[in-house]
Amino acid sequence: MATISTSTSELRDITKMERIGAHSHIRGLGLDAKLEPRQNSEGMVGQGKARKAAGIYLKMVKEARIAGRAILMAGPPSTGKTAIAMGMAQSLGSDVPFTALAASEVFSLAMSKTEALTQAFRRSIGVRIKEETEIIEGEVVEIQIDRSLTGATKTGKLTIKTTDMETVYDLGTKMIDALSKEKVSAGDIVSIDKASGKITKLGRSFARSRDYDAMGADTKFVQCPEGELQKRKEVVHTVSLHEIDVINSRTQGFLALFAGDTGEIKPELRAQINTKVNEWREEGKAEIVPGVLFIDEVHMLDIECFSFLNRALENELAPLVVMASNRGTSRVRGTNVRSPHGLPVDLLDRVLIVTTAPYAPEDIEQIIKIRCTEEDVALAPDALNILTTMATQTTLRYALNLISCAHVVAKKRKVEVVAVEDLRRAYAYFLDEKRSVQFLKEQQGALIF
Ligand code: ATP
Repeated sequence: MATISTSTSELRDITKMERIGAHSHIRGLGLDAKLEPRQNSEGMVGQGKARKAAGIYLKMVKEARIAGRAILMAGPPSTGKTAIAMGMAQSLGSDVPFTALAASEVFSLAMSKTEALTQAFRRSIGVRIKEETEIIEGEVVEIQIDRSLTGATKTGKLTIKTTDMETVYDLGTKMIDALSKEKVSAGDIVSIDKASGKITKLGRSFARSRDYDAMGADTKFVQCPEGELQKRKEVVHTVSLHEIDVINSRTQGFLALFAGDTGEIKPELRAQINTKVNEWREEGKAEIVPGVLFIDEVHMLDIECFSFLNRALENELAPLVVMASNRGTSRVRGTNVRSPHGLPVDLLDRVLIVTTAPYAPEDIEQIIKIRCTEEDVALAPDALNILTTMATQTTLRYALNLISCAHVVAKKRKVEVVAVEDLRRAYAYFLDEKRSVQFLKEQQGALIF
């Protein structure tokens, strides 16, 4: 293979977006520097023990003290197992891949079980590729300025249209000024009009930098030895190994990434790509970013998949594998053996088990509030109380799903604030699991089984 193409950075976000909608409020694990869980932080509420355990695990991973291991999140439905896995991926960095897979998806007719798992593994490993390119005059370049160096504490992000270092520092000073006047806050991306100095907020960013140098998350100025600004920048983009596989597969091509149907990929191609990526690593052009592979309902996998997992975890290119199960002791699929969480004992032996517990009503209330903000829905105070009670009697996920349903009902009444009556209607339209079981009992004979 002559060249290996990697130009798909934006594709990953497109394919990722749909899956994570329900967890879009999760921005990290919400832990402090000592890995203690904050009560309500980064979209996370409660479940402190599990969050702390996840944080300790990540720390071990970062310090390379752990390899070939995985986490099993064990707990009842809707207790935040997926949310915590998402939080782990988020706290590793914005370009760290996160793949969520329901174990039952592995049993597709289109490809073998091991191919489906291999693709999931490779989707969860990022390759951060560095390239140097010319800065074109007038291009948007990002710089970050840390005010702690100037006696203040906030960090802002500035987007400017210049390659001239003088202007960078000049605008940087104006930026610091704006920060001190609280016009913008930490993490905001702002643009400054060069002529008027007018500051416009562009959106949020969670990037932080300790460097006073003109440096952005993905863009860096390279300083000449004479101290003169070179008109070159280092661009970094991250793609997953799976994306590299697909775009270099002759039979597939990168359009297959849009369709989500990538078919089987030849092992020889993967071997070539692994060799190439290793070369890039040695030349300092790329680094491997192990992401998080989340396997939900892991008890649905069978013994062949479990033995694949055992082997794959040993691989040098393994992501962090977080599995979740809401089962107690159950049969390991493909065998007659019963085992805790439906996992074979040799796999259980290498996983760290983290348990999640049902939420207290105060936690549920806070999570509902966070989701309302996320979905831009205003909920009347008594409706919040009712929804909290509903969540304790059904599940948290069911209650969170009712928010958008009740909002649609409220809008039909031409009111903006969701009231108790909207929730009642939504509750009557959509059954939760318990009422659906009741419905099935009542309709026995009338339904086809
Ligand atoms: P299941 O076993 O059914 O797959 P789960 O344990 O994976 O459930 P989640 O899907 O993570 O549960 O949680 C249900 C919903 O509640 C999601 O929208 C999730 O983002 C939210 N949620 C759960 N726990 C928390 C938490 N601690 N803080 C904020 N949001 C949470």
